[in-house]
Amino acid sequence: MNTVPVADHLRHALNLKPQEVALRKELDEWLPEVIIDCHAHCNLEAHVKNVSDYAYKHMMSSFTYLSLEDSARLKDLFYPFRKVRSLRFPKTFRGIDHRAANEYLLNESPEDDRIAVFGLPEDFDYTVGIMRHPRASALKMYWSYVDPPAKKIYDFFTPEILEEAQALDLPIILHLPRMIVHTCDDLMAVLSDFPHLRVVLAHLGLSKLLVPGLEEAYRRAARSPNVWLDTALNPSPEVVSLALECFGRDRIMFGSDEPLNLLRSVAYKHPEKGERIVTDYQYHWVDPVEYAEYGHLAKDAVHAQWQCTLAIKKAVEGYPLEEQEGLKALIFQKTAEHVFRF
Ligand SMILES: [Zn+2]
Repeated sequence: MNTVPVADHLRHALNLKPQEVALRKELDEWLPEVIIDCHAHCNLEAHVKNVSDYAYKHMMSSFTYLSLEDSARLKDLFYPFRKVRSLRFPKTFRGIDHRAANEYLLNESPEDDRIAVFGLPEDFDYTVGIMRHPRASALKMYWSYVDPPAKKIYDFFTPEILEEAQALDLPIILHLPRMIVHTCDDLMAVLSDFPHLRVVLAHLGLSKLLVPGLEEAYRRAARSPNVWLDTALNPSPEVVSLALECFGRDRIMFGSDEPLNLLRSVAYKHPEKGERIVTDYQYHWVDPVEYAEYGHLAKDAVHAQWQCTLAIKKAVEGYPLEEQEGLKALIFQKTAEHVFRF
């Protein structure tokens, strides 16, 4: 089996750079008292049964596990003076024992936190059973959990399961199979088939840049009152601003994608491969040749945590001063409280 040296990765990531200490101070003065992180992954090492070659080659396998205790340590590191509540779900790739990971989160999560149960497209009875658990606040299913990876939403969120989610009024956390610009028709069809289903689009619909067609896709999706978005791993103030403008102030929620918020990367243009990212640390999924040549570009890179929180800060600062506190409270707390019943 592919083994990932997660402990080494954590050790590297938890050692703050001076610029990260400075950012923590800057953001500590800015962030609200209470923060809800509505996109966090959590499971134990014992739940990792297999890391496929597909997952192993992808940055999502940088941390195949992160326990509730590790998660508490990260809160102390990133926000030592804040009360942080989390909505957690297991890592998403096939090879995780999702049944055991769901049990772990449902039984062990602190009372103030919430759980999105992980559904299995191949096991309808299990999935609808776990959706009815009193601690289930949302349903997560994942596009590349199925093999081959899904091209359509119904390939992994099957209509039968969405029917149940709609009936239970349980929000789904939807990582689109591709960026929203390319999957908007598919999304609109699902929204029209399930007009009362509450849908939270992960990663602001997956666009990290203001690409052509993004505004149109956002405006189309925003016509449905049942769509929200989380900000997980989005480093662009322009994309956050556009999402706020198109969806309104009460439909965008902070998410960290913990533990992937521990990665420190920069984007660069490779002469042959086009736009790529390089990290400050040679993870198993980083091409060694590319790392040797371009790794220096990421020497001063800071955790995604800071890059993405700064993007929200910049977007909020584009609003009139007297509106900023209210907007911050919506993004970091109030909207998630309402959507996930915190
Ligand atoms: Zn995630």
